[in-house]
Amino acid sequence: MPDISTHPCFNKDARHKFARVHLPVAMTCNIKCNYCNRKYDCVNESRPGVTSNILTPDQSVFYLTELKKKLPNLSVVGIAGPGDPFAQPEATMETLRKVRENFPEMLLCVSSNGLNIAPFVDELKELNVSHVTITVNGVDPDVTKDIYGWVRFKKRGYFGRDAAELLLSQQKKAIKSLVEAGITTKVNSVVVPGINHHHIKEVAKWASAQGVEVMNPIPMYPVEGTEFENIPEPQPALIKELRNTVNDHLPVMTHCARCRADAAGLLGKDSTEASRLLSDATKF
Ligand code: SF4
Ligand code: SF4
Repeated sequence: MPDISTHPCFNKDARHKFARVHLPVAMTCNIKCNYCNRKYDCVNESRPGVTSNILTPDQSVFYLTELKKKLPNLSVVGIAGPGDPFAQPEATMETLRKVRENFPEMLLCVSSNGLNIAPFVDELKELNVSHVTITVNGVDPDVTKDIYGWVRFKKRGYFGRDAAELLLSQQKKAIKSLVEAGITTKVNSVVVPGINHHHIKEVAKWASAQGVEVMNPIPMYPVEGTEFENIPEPQPALIKELRNTVNDHLPVMTHCARCRADAAGLLGKDSTEASRLLSDATKF
């Protein structure tokens, strides 16, 4: 049984000792966040949504086998993009099954926008996926309608307030199922100044009431070519204040490194060798 205290994101004390890897198997997304710009060929940029390669489930197993030789302290295998793991759930679920079969000692972790994870919670539990993160940027559709360009669900497109309402209702269902399944659930909120920074307290209250165990207010990283490219990154003082506010309601994560979708190594100290192994794995 993997030791859940070795997850470097959920246990601050583990971050200098245990490494994590993100397997970039989830190519597409089912929503459009106005701060997101995914690129697949960038090796120099460090932020969510960026990866230098996409792996198949079998390539992921090959990559992990090689990576473990270089990172003996690897404790967590996560899937966090570069799109959403449940926009095309087949690749995600097959990868998780194969990783569980081949690496029973690993903690498994998934990060999603929550739109389409609910139908997979039972199997996630069976596979002993111990940690799930859902990004909830607001709990009022009048706030979040400005964050999402569109939502695609069951082959239909939603826009504006309809999109925001649908996403929130799916996130509620997802979190309820995850908590009931006993999976450690974290909520990430991307803090966008002028759009939702005043609303993070409401998210914290809501998340606490749903049984979420930890919350992570993440400063938005302004990226060129997105609708929010001209909104400045939140100041550290604002993030500090928001973390204190969140902490009044539930434990807060303060050491998030805003990792790439193909991050590997200790938090904030990604292994340079991993990018070569990742590239090799695509030839497998
Ligand atoms: Fe990008 Fe993630 Fe938002 Fe999808 S859910 S648009 S991958 S930030
Ligand atoms: Fe952990 Fe934050 Fe990196 Fe996700 S982005 S792996 S929560 S440190």
